[in-house]
Amino acid sequence: MDYERLTEAYSAMEQTRSRLELATLLAGLFRDTPPEELAAVAYLCLGKLGPAYDSREVGLSDKSVLRTLALASGTPLDNLQANYAKAGDIGLVAEEALAAKSQQPLFGSPLTVSRVWERLHALSLETGSGSQERKFRALAELLHDGTPQDARYLCRTAVGKLRLGFSQMLLVDGLAEAFGSREERSMVEAAYNRHPDIGWLAQRTAADFSSLADVRTTPGIPLRPMLGERLSSAEAVLEKHDGESAFEWKYDGLRVQAHLLKGGTRLFSRSLEDLTPQFPDVVDALEQALPTGVIVEGEALAIDEAGNLLPFQVIAKRRGRKHGLAEKLEEIPVGVRLFDLLYANGQETLDTAFTERREQLETLFTPSDRVACTTLLRTTNAAEAEQSLLDALEGGCEGLMSKALNGSYRAGARGWQWIKYKPDYRSDLADTIDAVVVGGFHGRGRRGGFWGALLMATRTPTGFETVCKLGSGFSDEDLATLKQRLDPIQRTGPPAGLKWKLEPDAWFEPELVLELLGAEISQSPIHTCGGGYAVRFPRYKRQRDDKTPETATESDEVIALYKI
Ligand code: AMP
Repeated sequence: MDYERLTEAYSAMEQTRSRLELATLLAGLFRDTPPEELAAVAYLCLGKLGPAYDSREVGLSDKSVLRTLALASGTPLDNLQANYAKAGDIGLVAEEALAAKSQQPLFGSPLTVSRVWERLHALSLETGSGSQERKFRALAELLHDGTPQDARYLCRTAVGKLRLGFSQMLLVDGLAEAFGSREERSMVEAAYNRHPDIGWLAQRTAADFSSLADVRTTPGIPLRPMLGERLSSAEAVLEKHDGESAFEWKYDGLRVQAHLLKGGTRLFSRSLEDLTPQFPDVVDALEQALPTGVIVEGEALAIDEAGNLLPFQVIAKRRGRKHGLAEKLEEIPVGVRLFDLLYANGQETLDTAFTERREQLETLFTPSDRVACTTLLRTTNAAEAEQSLLDALEGGCEGLMSKALNGSYRAGARGWQWIKYKPDYRSDLADTIDAVVVGGFHGRGRRGGFWGALLMATRTPTGFETVCKLGSGFSDEDLATLKQRLDPIQRTGPPAGLKWKLEPDAWFEPELVLELLGAEISQSPIHTCGGGYAVRFPRYKRQRDDKTPETATESDEVIALYKI
């Protein structure tokens, strides 16, 4: 097929924002494409040379494309650079330069999709000395044989900025419309969720539409991950899950989908990017813990010497690093908390109930100091779930992920079978609270050496009453300044006039006032404010150096907030 047919479609698609129209344009394009060019057309519509988990790119710089254009069009490089600075779009500069060329080529080979595809592919493999030069010549050849409109899209594709503004899911719409019907879209999408390679899908959809129903997970090909909805009360979660749910700690790490294959393990990110080269130690840990022939999902985290889990930012330092990887590996040991099993014993387990998948996962692997399953509490009791949330927050997690016991693994879908259960910081409280620090709890993990949580108190006419344990909202800098302020005012016992039940690791003189925000006021068996009230899910806002303990929030004001 002529490349021009594709660039005409690109151009038409650039003119519309309507999803339906875009799908119809894509469907027309797919129907006109011969089977052997379908995969290429599908990838090229996204400006890609392969599926999302294949990072191949043409990799030409804007500068080299401008040089190529100067050669192909005869326009001086300075003019092209000036135009580019003005337009900011290499495609428009290319189109204009070639349209202004006085003579169209007399000799040349036809510019077909296959030719463009093969050339761009060959270019993506070019590396090393002289590679920019070879890429440069190959692109000049293609530009020579194409129309000015072809040049617009060729140049954009070459620099990785095709940007037609739609996603893979729109191609799914287009494929359904081309080879089945709009109504059958969910069948195409289900196949795509299990095998998210749009080129492969295009060929299969065209060749045998009804066989899409048989598409299953293939080891080595990542599945699109399942996602959750969000709620902020345990009661609401339990109601959604018919009264009983599995509440797992929600770790603040990097999601990895690990395929343990005979030929080697491969790791994929949530966006299906291949993470394998960046995490040889995760591969190693998983290979020691699991047999081959399985696909598991888990959260990769950094671990400190004491075995504490550290947050995502620590791991993020590793991403995209190629140089100096070896030193980083020693600096930041990585562990995995597994939460799902997607393939075992030669078949996918997506339709198996969650509790069975989890049981199978637990029997399959050998726990080690680096690999474990997520902490999980199966309960029908909202108070127990809430306690687990508090434990998770204290353990450095962001909240809980609750899973419907008989839920399937719905690849690529966001639904109520998984619910993120996190405190809601869009507070219902009308106001923040200024409370006094009266005690401290030693920090663990990344907070080691600092005060990890603080016992906070409100004031009464005769003294103080504890109102919450404050452990979230602190930046590293806050932790350091709080330590500086609090260490000198440590005292041996509780301050006089303080009513308390929860015993901290250290007591402080009631001097420092902090502003905090909470989700709501609730009754509490461990705090003494107003005879048993507490701020739920308190979050640190800032130090109130302008306030003294005598002007801190009164217990009565907190009770009034409860009654609002
Ligand atoms: P969010 O990014 O807020 O939508 O939350 C979903 C993410 O939480 C997933 O993509 C995982 O990376 C992460 N996560 C952490 N712990 C768990 C868990 N126990 N179960 C499922 N996902 C988890």
